[in-house]
Amino acid sequence: MPTYSPPLRDMQFVMHEVLKVTDDLKLMPQHVDTDADTINAILEEGGKFASEVAFPLNISGDAEGCTLDKTTHEVTAPKGFKQAYAQYVQGGWAALSCDPAYGGQGLPFVVNQCFYEMLNSANQAWTMYPGLSHGAYEALHAHGTDAQKALYLPKLTSGEWTGSMCLTEPHCGTDLGLLRTKAEPLADGTYSLTGNKIFISAGEHDLAANIVHLVLARLPDAPVGSKGISLFAVPKFHAAADGTLGARNGIYCGGLEHKMGIHGNSTAQMVLDGAIGTLVGQPNKGLAAMFVMMNAARLGVGNQSLGLTEVAYQNALAYAKDRIQMRSLSGTKAKDKPADPIIVHPDVRKMLLTAKAYAEGGRALGIFCGVLLDKEHSHPDEKVRADSGEMLALLTPIVKAFITDNGHISTNACMQVFGGHGFIKEWGMEQYVRDNRINMIYEGTNTIQSLDLLGRKILGNNGATLKKFGRLVAALVEEEGVNEKMGEFITPIAILGDQVTKLTTEVGFKGFQNADEVGAAAVDYLRVAGHLVFGYFWARMAQVALREIAAGNTDQFYLAKVQTARFYFAKLFPETATLMRTIRSGSKALMDTDAALA
Ligand SMILES: Cc1cc2nc3c(=O)[nH]c(=O)nc-3n(C[C@H](O)[C@H](O)[C@H](O)COP(=O)(O)OP(=O)(O)OC[C@H]3O[C@@H](n4cnc5c(N)ncnc54)[C@H](O)[C@@H]3O)c2cc1C
Repeated sequence: MPTYSPPLRDMQFVMHEVLKVTDDLKLMPQHVDTDADTINAILEEGGKFASEVAFPLNISGDAEGCTLDKTTHEVTAPKGFKQAYAQYVQGGWAALSCDPAYGGQGLPFVVNQCFYEMLNSANQAWTMYPGLSHGAYEALHAHGTDAQKALYLPKLTSGEWTGSMCLTEPHCGTDLGLLRTKAEPLADGTYSLTGNKIFISAGEHDLAANIVHLVLARLPDAPVGSKGISLFAVPKFHAAADGTLGARNGIYCGGLEHKMGIHGNSTAQMVLDGAIGTLVGQPNKGLAAMFVMMNAARLGVGNQSLGLTEVAYQNALAYAKDRIQMRSLSGTKAKDKPADPIIVHPDVRKMLLTAKAYAEGGRALGIFCGVLLDKEHSHPDEKVRADSGEMLALLTPIVKAFITDNGHISTNACMQVFGGHGFIKEWGMEQYVRDNRINMIYEGTNTIQSLDLLGRKILGNNGATLKKFGRLVAALVEEEGVNEKMGEFITPIAILGDQVTKLTTEVGFKGFQNADEVGAAAVDYLRVAGHLVFGYFWARMAQVALREIAAGNTDQFYLAKVQTARFYFAKLFPETATLMRTIRSGSKALMDTDAALA
């Protein structure tokens, strides 16, 4: 059976020693009193909830899955999920970073980010039920009418109701411009929605009294394509203005998907049969309003894989110390045993360190993005708000795609550490591989993320935001360029920074002549950019750790950090050289292949 221990020390290291998040928070009136002790105390309690309440339901939830009663259309989540959710609500966890105007605790997003990492490690399938509510809350907070805010936000904040996002239809996932669900205006200002949605996570369940579905649909006179999509709030139960529940609305679950992983989360086919909804935001501008939810969800999906990477690593590490098999190539290490523990073998170490380096790098990036989100929402200086939003937009596809791809690599590596036992359910490792796989697909596939990064966020603004990230790298290079001890961490990112600038110009130029060149480069490009970002954070973590060591601190934590940074730059970062070669090979080997693909 797997175990999980919340990585509080590592979170504190990134928050308080590397990024010094409270320095930023102090500048925001709303967060001026949120000091390090407060953050640590909340996360300690949050870690207990994750490891003691959500984690014990992970394997049982996977085995049992969700059940649909076809006569009532009600879905029952696995045993214990409802009780755990009640504890979550009672503990006030749903309200952590919500607006006090709606009953929230108003704590920084970055605290919620770390809390959710732990929940995802503990039980991704369970975590998706409350997780989707956050995106629905954000979209309604940003674009809802006063009446919608008054009705929905207090209920989402308390956790009494949950949210869902209803975009996908059988014939359209990536290309939402094709969607067909119709919304007919009614005399009272509401809308009657008809259509079919599929793959709706937490679309139906028994955890909460009501579900607020955010649904994309078309008005009768809507232009074709993505410019004709509107957003609607459609509750499972009608509700009076004071939140009192009324009759069932015409939106219900027609079936549940049988799937590879996240079995404990219901993936619902939703039928809208004259469901009554209210318009969120402007007519035909629904995609823009939904993007608030989608961006929150993309950061959330990266956090899902971060959580899975961490828990898989913890278990693989413990197993590698315990399992004895063969002798070390360089001579016996455990003389008292008939064989050495497998952790002596170089490749086992490589697998473990891969997961560790990707988890800790992902955590640094995730926390950095959490602070950007806080600055975007709460910083008093308008320019800081705008710059933070721009940087977050650049990093969002990297969080979503790079961390989830790394989660795939890492959970597989950790399963491999267990040999055949990793493939056997009892150890829990194969579940992490299965659960992680969807993270590369939903919320816009990782290919779509890479097109968003390269096409829209980088080439679309002539690399302006990328240059801003480049300036962060340049400042670190400037600061540490003459420090011999930092050379092994600084030189690679300085070189890669220059290479990425050149590469971007080349791809942009080729893309002008043939847009398929951008499509051919994008996925590899995102990985290169991901390493530039991770390399920057690994260099910053090494910088802090080396300073502590130089000051005489003998805490092994710092030595471990330097060793992991060394591993990252020696064994993972260099894949950028191959990726840059494949990017430069262009689109021809893909597009001139009609005979091969005939
Ligand atoms: C378990 C699960 C939970 C989900 N939860 C939700 C949810 O809560 N709400 C919701 O609305 N949806 C949800 N989805 C749907 C999910 O977001 C979509 O499956 C995803 O966006 C991809 O859409 P698709 O499956 O239609 O694939 P398609 O869009 O048909 O794509 C097929 C392939 O073509 C590629 N492709 C498509 N267009 C391009 C392009 N322009 N360039 C390059 N490659 C391209 C894709 O990357 C992909 O590899 C969920 C799906 C699953 C499986």
